[in-house]
Amino acid sequence: MTSSFPSDPGHDLPVVVIAGRPNVGKSTIFNRLVGRRQALVADTPGVTRDRKESETTVRGRRIRLIDTAGLEEAAPDTLFGRMRASSESAVAMADLVLFCIDARAGITPADEHFAAWLRRQGRPVLVLANKAEGRQGAAAAMEAFSLGLGAPLAISAEHGEGLADLMGEIADRIPDGPTQPRRPSRRERAEGEEEDDTRPPGPLRLAIVGRPNAGKSTLLNRLLGEERMITGPEPGLTRDSVSVMLHDDEGPIQLVDTAGLRRKARIDETLEKMSVSASIEALKMAEVVILALDATLGVHEQDLQIARLIEREGRCCVLALNKWDAVEDRNATRQAIRDRIETSLSQMKGIPVVAFSALTGAGVNKLLPTVRHAYEVWNRRVPTGELNRWFEMMVSRHPPPLVQGRRLKLRYITQAKSRPPTFILFGTRTEQMPEDYQRYLVNGLREAFDLPGTPIRLLLRGSQ
Ligand code: GDP
Ligand code: GDP
Repeated sequence: MTSSFPSDPGHDLPVVVIAGRPNVGKSTIFNRLVGRRQALVADTPGVTRDRKESETTVRGRRIRLIDTAGLEEAAPDTLFGRMRASSESAVAMADLVLFCIDARAGITPADEHFAAWLRRQGRPVLVLANKAEGRQGAAAAMEAFSLGLGAPLAISAEHGEGLADLMGEIADRIPDGPTQPRRPSRRERAEGEEEDDTRPPGPLRLAIVGRPNAGKSTLLNRLLGEERMITGPEPGLTRDSVSVMLHDDEGPIQLVDTAGLRRKARIDETLEKMSVSASIEALKMAEVVILALDATLGVHEQDLQIARLIEREGRCCVLALNKWDAVEDRNATRQAIRDRIETSLSQMKGIPVVAFSALTGAGVNKLLPTVRHAYEVWNRRVPTGELNRWFEMMVSRHPPPLVQGRRLKLRYITQAKSRPPTFILFGTRTEQMPEDYQRYLVNGLREAFDLPGTPIRLLLRGSQ
């Protein structure tokens, strides 16, 4: 192909090229990365219609993003030939190639050919296993290791999963170049000028759950009352509606299902049941869940039940000890609650705890920063190299046990996704690994990579 790229004001920016078979989701990924700013550059002179190209910002870095979808006219008639022809000139100038495959379809011969060709081009490549929504998808994505282009990143462009990871990976891999000008002020952001690219599009989604009378409504009102930047009422958005928007220094926070926490039951037994079922609804919509307790009552079995639901759904949890004003011996109470949580919720070791009084407001200011931090942990990614150095150390310190007289062979580990952190361990007969060895590894991951409180998934993949 002889087409040349027009020189435009973005010519000195790092170039990121999206390549792959038709229909794997390249355009969807492009649109996700460009967001609504695409409109700003659509009419740039010299940008041809069929070459989708845009400047965008990823983690504060300006890049030039090129989507090779639709560049297939007058190309050879094999699929690989078309892929190659459409991306050759773009790949040649790429600082990073995002090679997309369809995780649900698996690796096709055209993908393999294209990968072999890409390896010879000597450009940095990140394999994106798209359409990898859900846990199943993450595992299927790992097949893409076989392409020999490094650890694949599982994402779902359509469902918006893995986008924060993708942006992080792009920012880490592109060469140093011009960075975005200063961060816009909150007011500028409120006026819709810029979005924060360090997170997937949209606000952090937060739910408040807990037993009746824990003080959830009081807390909500406190958060809203102290919040001077409520963006509502948007159309149909009032304090009693389903979700409410707050802002803190880091951006918008959407409180989901605030109606749910106002639902009150009449009889005591149904009240208890309702608190669990209402929590399920709320936490499905949320990324971070505040589990509110009445600290004067300690930890109730129902609280643990809700916490386990949060863990099972893979959400990140902040434990809120409310009514702290009414607690007499604070040190003893805090210790008793911590002990109960650590023994009963070992799968969420290190869960963040904040004590405050929703009624007086004392201590409530620590809550949202704790939420932000928990969210950051939940989004964390551990580089594969570091992970495997740790893994070798763990295995040599404590070799895997014998199962039916034969030793498990563990080869390597990789983080397939975050939100929550999900790791895949490859080896032979890994599915026979005893629970306590799995726990040893999960606890080790938590400590070594500073992942307190978040659910951690360890998936085992083995030949037979
Ligand atoms: P392109 O030809 O590679 O640019 O692919 P498109 O972006 O046009 O996407 C092809 C099809 O895959 C469309 O129907 C998309 O809606 C769908 N698609 C894209 N991303 C995902 C995803 O993450 N999950 C699923 N299930 N479908 C997706
Ligand atoms: P919800 O059922 O979880 O929404 O709980 P509410 O917000 O309705 O609160 C239940 C009761 O606890 C009310 O009487 C509140 O005034 C009281 N309450 C809430 N927060 C606090 C607090 O921080 N300290 C004290 N002492 N009482 C509180």
